[in-house]
Amino acid sequence: MDIKIIPLPAEKMKAKIADASQLGFGKHFTDRMLMVEWKTGQGWCDARIEPYAPFVLDPACLVFHYAQEIFEGLKAYKWADGRVALFRPEMNARRFNQSGDRLCMPPVPEELFLKGIEQLVALEQEWIPTAPGTSLYIRPTMIAVDPVLGVKPADHYYFYVILSPVGPYYAAGFNPVSIMVEDHYVRAVPGGTGEAKTGGNYASSLKAGLEAKHKGFDQVLWLDGRERRYIEEVGAMNMFFVYGDKIVTAALNGSILSGVTRDSVIKLAPTLGCQVEERLIDVNDLMTDIRSGKVTEAFGSGTAAVITPVGKLCYKNETLQLTGGKVGGITQKLYDTLTGIQTGQLEDDFGWVRFVK
Ligand SMILES: *Cc1c(COP(=O)(O)O)cnc(C)c1O
Repeated sequence: MDIKIIPLPAEKMKAKIADASQLGFGKHFTDRMLMVEWKTGQGWCDARIEPYAPFVLDPACLVFHYAQEIFEGLKAYKWADGRVALFRPEMNARRFNQSGDRLCMPPVPEELFLKGIEQLVALEQEWIPTAPGTSLYIRPTMIAVDPVLGVKPADHYYFYVILSPVGPYYAAGFNPVSIMVEDHYVRAVPGGTGEAKTGGNYASSLKAGLEAKHKGFDQVLWLDGRERRYIEEVGAMNMFFVYGDKIVTAALNGSILSGVTRDSVIKLAPTLGCQVEERLIDVNDLMTDIRSGKVTEAFGSGTAAVITPVGKLCYKNETLQLTGGKVGGITQKLYDTLTGIQTGQLEDDFGWVRFVK
């Protein structure tokens, strides 16, 4: 499918943010966006890259009422040699369609997803920041736009991609966060939508996040929705625990989001001398292992922050420190290696990088 490029009037061009410390995360957006529509009987149509602008949508649109929505998150990096690199974008294309299948939304051809992003990023590459820790965050989204209040899969969708130049996720730097094990609210249940990247999962996680903040913790560690006993995820990241030279993470079970960063950590760890175990992690055993010093480090993984060290964990009013509240050696090594591959400072032995043509 050809993507039409709609001219960008000079007066619609925004000033780029020169000071990397002003970028923040997802606060600024580039001049253009990708927009494709899908209609029953017609399929994907009217693909275009157009000036970034607000949508005019009917207040009755399905997405506003029944949350038929999916999204993705990935990044583009500008390398020192000027090339623009995406990190494993095919994984995002595949996951987008898996999420879409769960929400009864039409699949986006992988080629359209990837080519659309590449063309958009190529046009907007002047927006990619280059200071350490910065990148261009890419947000593909699909929404149901039929203006009808009946509960049903829509007949009209927007698939669009917007771009945001971003600074380091944590303004204060690569410092350990504190997390609280949530034993009341759950993020996902077996058979639910936990494995799909859909806005509703985030809406329903806000309350627990806010209550954890009020208690002085940065993020929530989610337990499984059936027994509230097994570790699932941390905030909107996958969770890893380091036991000496072994790394343990929750096995995918249908309610855990299958992270691209998670998969990358699992593939990278053995090359750094660490074995990886995907299994059930009982929170009671975990607490015992932290108390006894068997757990030496803990971290979360996700595109936005890549790796987030965890320095403190609280469960049922008992707060334990990890790695003396410092960043662990394996956590640091994984962060350095992943970001090194993404930014072209380290060899990409896995073939994870895809250059924008
Ligand atoms: C996006 C997301 C992740 C991380 O996935 P990445 O592909 O590594 O960015 C983890 N958990 C949840 C709930 C997510 O939405």
